[in-house]
Amino acid sequence: MSNHYDFIACGAGSGGIAAAVQAAKHGKKVAVIECSTIGGTCVNLGCVPKKIMWYAGAVAEVIEDAPAYGFSGLQPEFSWSKLVSNRQSYINNIHKSYHKTFKKFNIDFIPGSAEFVDAKTLSANNQSFTAEHILIATGTQPIIPAIPGAEYGIDSDGFFALLERPKRVAIVGAGYIAVELAGFLHSLGCDTSLLIRRDKPLRSFDPLMSDTLLEIMQDHKLKVLTEHIPDKVIKGSDGRLTIHCQQDKQVTEIDTLVWAIGRKPRVDGLSVAKSGVEMDDLGYVATDKFQNTTVKNIYAVGDITGFKALTPVAVAAGRRLSRRLFNNETDLHLDYSNIATVVFSHPPIGTVGLTELQAIEKFGKEQVHVYQSRFTGMFDALTPQRVPTVMKLITMGDKERIGRSSSGMTKY
Ligand code: NAP
Repeated sequence: MSNHYDFIACGAGSGGIAAAVQAAKHGKKVAVIECSTIGGTCVNLGCVPKKIMWYAGAVAEVIEDAPAYGFSGLQPEFSWSKLVSNRQSYINNIHKSYHKTFKKFNIDFIPGSAEFVDAKTLSANNQSFTAEHILIATGTQPIIPAIPGAEYGIDSDGFFALLERPKRVAIVGAGYIAVELAGFLHSLGCDTSLLIRRDKPLRSFDPLMSDTLLEIMQDHKLKVLTEHIPDKVIKGSDGRLTIHCQQDKQVTEIDTLVWAIGRKPRVDGLSVAKSGVEMDDLGYVATDKFQNTTVKNIYAVGDITGFKALTPVAVAAGRRLSRRLFNNETDLHLDYSNIATVVFSHPPIGTVGLTELQAIEKFGKEQVHVYQSRFTGMFDALTPQRVPTVMKLITMGDKERIGRSSSGMTKY
């Protein structure tokens, strides 16, 4: 096996794999270097196991609602370990399917930690590899706060390693991961507290979504502890944790503490400086719209770019990059505007485009039209919870190409 390639991807996550397979489809000689498990965060420690847990929470909710639909006597036992084992089998199948695809397209999978030697050379597994084009797709990793006792908590990676259902769990954070974990843990019967440092979670979302989610969480007795900023964690002799927060607040008798306060670039050991590639102030790899870094023939896609950390975005950017490089589609790049996103909270949230405030800031209040609706969906019309569904549609200008004809929406 020659160690010279047309294209090497550092990182076998969603972005690296998508770009590598696309390059191989165009007849290129391709390798992927991965220091951990094939599939990256999404498959192993993110979207995939999270979504399985979300479905488990949804099943628990349906069982709870079943009497309203005439079913009685439903008191099934729940086995966390069975769920985790089935989840892992599914993930193992995804690994096999990736390896099969690599084999089909003659992509070399190189286990090991990639390190730049220079702009054209990488070392991994005590070998040297050169390439015409190198992709950095190494993703991100969770942040743990720098406070005393933080090590008693786990991050989302540690959460997916739990073999037993936590009894009393505290989740610290206010973004996607925090609300997703809190939602399904609560549905699965854990005594769940969500500690947020301000007044609500998902503050960057349109207030209709974040406010309604907060309302639903509180209605469902999920403990949302606002303005709780941890400054110390103490482990008692019984192994339980007390989270001390600013202003003398305390959260006590916690079995499992999960930090979900954001993620940081994963470049440990990559020696990016030896390639000459510049990073931004936060340590992400700076790219232009074509995924070019500051060094010719070195590119970056996915979470490591610090922009729209979403799997489908990494996949789309990776595929476009390889089509541009190897299929003569010289102007091809991902349009990063209007990317839809889903939060797998309970209930889930979907959104695309600007928030109302962003639209007003961009176009002026008189140009922006807002349509809003709140109702009880048919499923919940029979259940005691009456979980509300809310929708918001924002249009701009006289033409209002979206919205004016939507029946059932009230113009505000
Ligand atoms: P995130 O979305 O960046 O949210 C982290 C939040 O935690 C911050 O916005 C902040 O909210 C709060 N926070 C930060 N530092 C804190 C501290 N020291 N103490 C308490 N709270 C703190 O991070 P994430 O949830 O880790 O997710 C990372 C990225 O992964 C997301 O941005 C998303 O792109 C991706 N992701 C996507 C999905 C999906 O598509 N469904 C699911 C999971 C992750 P406040 O400023 O409001 O306090």
